[in-house]
This record gives sequence, structure tokens and C-alpha cells, in this order.
Amino acid sequence: MSQNGKIGVTTENIFPIIKKFLYSDHEIFLRELVSNAVDATQKLKTYSSLGEFKGELGDLYINIKIDKENGTLTISDRGIGMTNEEIDKYINQIAFSSANEFLDKYKKDANSIIGHFGLGFYSSFMVSKKVEIITKSFKEGAEAVKWSCDGSPEYTIETVEKADRGTDIVLYIDDENKNFLEKNEIDKLLKKYCRFLPVPIVFGKKTEWKDGKSVETDENNVINETSPLWTRKPSDLKDEDYKKFYQDLYPFSDEPMFWIHLNVDYPFKLTGILYFPQIKSNVDLNKNKIQLYSNQVFVTDSVEGIVPEFLTLMHGVLDSPDIPLNVSRSYLQSDQNVKKISSHITKKVADRLEEIFKNDRTQFEEKWDSLKVFIEYGMLTDEKFNDRAQKFCLLKNTDGKAFTFEEYKTLISANQTDKEGNLIYLYANNKDEQYTYIGSAKDKGYDVILFDGQLDVHMASFLEQKFEKSRFVRVDSDTIDNIIVKDDAKEIKLTDKQKEELSEAFTSQLPKIDKTEFTVDYKALDEKAQPIQITQNEFMRRMKEMSAMQTGMGFYGEMPNNYNLVLNIEHPLIKNIMADVDGKDKEAVVSYAGNNADIRQLIDLALLSNGMLKGEALNNFIKRNMENI
Ligand code: ADP
Repeated sequence: MSQNGKIGVTTENIFPIIKKFLYSDHEIFLRELVSNAVDATQKLKTYSSLGEFKGELGDLYINIKIDKENGTLTISDRGIGMTNEEIDKYINQIAFSSANEFLDKYKKDANSIIGHFGLGFYSSFMVSKKVEIITKSFKEGAEAVKWSCDGSPEYTIETVEKADRGTDIVLYIDDENKNFLEKNEIDKLLKKYCRFLPVPIVFGKKTEWKDGKSVETDENNVINETSPLWTRKPSDLKDEDYKKFYQDLYPFSDEPMFWIHLNVDYPFKLTGILYFPQIKSNVDLNKNKIQLYSNQVFVTDSVEGIVPEFLTLMHGVLDSPDIPLNVSRSYLQSDQNVKKISSHITKKVADRLEEIFKNDRTQFEEKWDSLKVFIEYGMLTDEKFNDRAQKFCLLKNTDGKAFTFEEYKTLISANQTDKEGNLIYLYANNKDEQYTYIGSAKDKGYDVILFDGQLDVHMASFLEQKFEKSRFVRVDSDTIDNIIVKDDAKEIKLTDKQKEELSEAFTSQLPKIDKTEFTVDYKALDEKAQPIQITQNEFMRRMKEMSAMQTGMGFYGEMPNNYNLVLNIEHPLIKNIMADVDGKDKEAVVSYAGNNADIRQLIDLALLSNGMLKGEALNNFIKRNMENI
């Protein structure tokens, strides 16, 4: 039998278009053809187990062969094969109509389809000038047929001799794609797309070193791992297995902290292993590390839109045949199935974290510094995750002790509630720079949270909204007596004139600091409290910090840093200065202050304890004090 036919495509020649527009991704032809071979093999196994196929299964591997002389690449399987009628139905009609559909869509929206449009078998024309299918169905008495097409919409089909059941797809690689006849190139692609396929893929023979050169052995070179870790039962696996798999996926990486083995059957199918990597710095925040598979076929490692944003910091593999792959990203993001999968993963991750927290709190606390960024990111961006994380999110204080939200509230509520009933959470973001303030807070019996992570400023604002009647205040945002206002402040009995004189005396002696402004404030503190302190308003500072991290808040970013210079008018030193400047005019105050060693010393000490005394001012301070020794 021999027959010619015309494929039902109206457009003159669709292949040049396929070639051109799928160019960047044209290596996927190999994935498509090998997947088809895997499907055909799996189907045969199913028929055999159902008793519909009674013959010998034999070795079911898929063979990939390069023939450089003839310029061909052949993918062979021993699966179900196709009859003449099936070729007509699946290749001539269905597959071509899918190519046609591709064209239609292309006309409407090129962007949405370039990338992952599953052209299946026809993607082979991206790299070939001619393609042959030589196939023999597993059905009894089936005749082998050869289908051949040179990229025009015309094909030939004829009966041929083929000893064994199954299919050979022979690609006559075209001149622009000769690289697909290179062993290294095919090896690389097989490792990328086929590394975890469920049927053994053989590519040539294993080699060994003999007499100083590499020689082929008789053993088949199987390039894939047919039952990768995520397809196996968690109860059969040990920690070592998970760690080893992680090393296989990401060679030379630090050991992961934890992992989650996902296994969902209903309402969608999803398996996979997600790892929490060790995070030591910003640089480690590597997205696009999760690999997405569909029935063990590698699809992509860009999972945005499928996995909740905060989980893209995780590593590992996800496998789901229910994620539609042949569609654009924007479609993916609105797909209901994908939404369900995404929220399910969130739930699982939260469950696992809670479980580790409950079962091994010590370990959880030890790893908190690395874990924190995931959890905070998750809480800030995902309402459901936030709800669940309330149980295991920790607050660590400046002594390194960790508390849950509930525990921390209990710890501070007696001593850190202000007169209006607000609970005041004190925090520091730098243990060294805010050392003095942390010290005075502790002297008061207050506890100070250490908020030195990348997302902590956001967390402070976020938790303030979530917790009832609570405020987060940095330890240096007010004097310690005022930071948690418990009684009505003592009245300040200064006239405007007195305030003016005092302000002039100090501001005239302040060194100029770039983008920094000071406002003098007067407080009647204890006479033993510090005479002068520098504080920074919590709200303004936080606005500035947040604007540094996000755009659209430039207004706050450009404003100078505003500090309060708080004078304790009950302190003897300040009292003396007040008496000295009493009744003086502006000029006289400035001249007095310029000659007053106490004022300069007080200012410099206050700046110094804030890490704000720098450069020339610091040098002068040191010189002056050396002279006094
Ligand atoms: P898809 O795989 O998405 O269905 P393809 O264009 O890749 O689309 O293939 C079309 C059809 O051709 C397949 O559904 C299958 O029925 C048949 N087919 C392709 N390759 C093989 C093969 N190696 N063995 C048996 N049948 C095949």
C-alpha cells in the first residue's frame, strides 16, 4: 500500500511560521517526542495489566540515537505504536488541527502562545527538514507503516516491514539546527527535560576509561531516574534521601533546613518536595529554583503565578498534571485549578512549619534567623498564611530569647502598658548602635525585641494593625520615661523666652550634619536621668525606612532626618545653663554657649551615644578630651 494525501491545513505552509516563532524554545521538540514515547509505553503497560495486551512486554526502554552520516536523530519506543488509521486520526487530523489552532491564536496574540504551546509531535518540524514515523501497532495482525512529511502540508504513507511493535520517529535535522546532532547537546537536553521520566531513556552506551582513553562498554547508558524521590512514599524515605536529592538538584548547595513532601490526590493531583534553603543574606534569596514537572516531564523553572509569591524563595520540585501548561502566564494566574493548588501549597507549608515548631521547638528556634524571612514574607503577602503563622511566628528579644506572639504579650503586658491601655512593644534594629537605649529600657524592666531583618520594619507596621491596642516603638524614639507614658507628664514651667534662650544655646553649638535637622524639646525628667538625649519620632522614621524599600513614597525619602534634642530641665547641668542665659539676647546667648565647655560636651556625648558624632566633630571631641586628662 502506498498513498499520498494533503493535510487539512488551509494556510499554505505553516511550518516556517512554527519555526520562526518558536525559535527561542525549539529545543522542546525533544521533550515533546520523548513524552509521546513515554505515553505510548505507559499505555501499553496499562493494556497489559488490564489483560487487553497479552504479549510479552519485554524491555520497555526508549532509545535515542544520533546518526551523523545520515543527519538523523531517532526516538524509538516499544509502546503501543499506531495503525494506519490511527496515524490518520492522530497525526494527520488532530495534530495538524492543533498546529492550525496555533496559527489562529498566533494571529490574535503572539505573546501568549510563544513559550509553552504544546505543539507535541509537530514541534519536530522546528528542527527538521523531513520527519518519518515508522510504527507498528501492538494490536494483533497490525501492519507496520511509514509516514513521511517534508514540512509542506503534504505527506506520504506506505506499508513497511518492522520487526517489533512500537514507534521510531526519525528526524532529518535541517541545516540551521545541526547542533541537535551533537552528543553533548542531546545529552544536555535529555538531562534537562527527561531526567526524571518514568520509563528508562537510553542514549548510547556507558563509557569507561581504558588505557588512557574513554571507550564504550556494552552497558546501556540510561540517562534518567525513573522513580524520583517525590514519587515515592514518604514513609519509605529517610532524611538522608531528601538531603541527597537536594544535592542532586542543586549541587554544591548548603544542606536544606527542612522539607515538605507533598502528596495530594483530590481535588487535584500534586506531588513534590519543597525545601527551605539556608538563607544567610539577601544574595541567597534566589527565586526560580523550584522546578515544575507534569507527570515527571520537566516543564519550567519559573513558577511565578503557580506557587504563592513568598514560596518562590523555596527550592525543590512540584509535579502536577493538573496545571495547564500550554497557556500563557496571565491565564495561569487566573486559572481556578492553579489557585487551588497555590492555596493548598500554602496550607501545607504552614502545617509543616507548625508541626516542626510543636515537635522540636529548639530546632525551630535555632533556625529561626534563616526561616524568618519566608515566614514574614508569607505573613505580609498572604492573609491565610498569616492566620496560620500566628501560632509559630516568633519574636526574638535582644538577649536572643524567642517568644510566640501570645507568650510575648503575656511577658510584657504588666509592665509595658501605657496609661491609655496600649501595649507598647519596644524594639531595636541594631544592638550596637542602640546599646544605650536598650540598656535604659532594661533598667526599667522593659523587654526589647530585636528587629534586624530585611522585612522587620514592615512587620512592625503590619503587626500594629493586626494586634489590638498595640504599638511598636523603637527604643530610641523617645526618652525612656516617655516611651511608655504611664502617668501624666510633669508640667513644664518654662516661659517662651526661657525656651528660646535654651534652644539657642544648644542649637548654635550643634555640628552641621548632612540631611539632618534637630528640634529642641524640653522634658521635666528625673534629676538623675540624662541631661540631654537624642530621639527620633517613630512614625517619621518608619515612613522614611519604608520609602527606602518601595517606590511611590519618594516624598518621605527626600525629607531630612528629623531628631529631637531632648533637654531634661530638672537636671542640675541644664538648670545652671538656664540660669546663665536668663535674660540674655540672642547674640549674647550664642557667644556664651560658644565658650561653655559643658554645652559642647553634652551635645557631643549625646551624638556619640547615637553613633552620630563623626569626622571632624569626632576628632575635635577626642582632642578636647585628651587635653583635659
Ligand atoms: P499530544 O501528545 O498532545 O496528544 P501530539 O501531537 O504529540 O499531541 O501527538 C498526537 C497523537 O499521536 C498522540 O496523542 C498519540 O495518540 C499519537 N502518538 C504520537 N507519538 C506517538 C508514539 N510514539 N507512539 C504512539 N502514538 C503516538
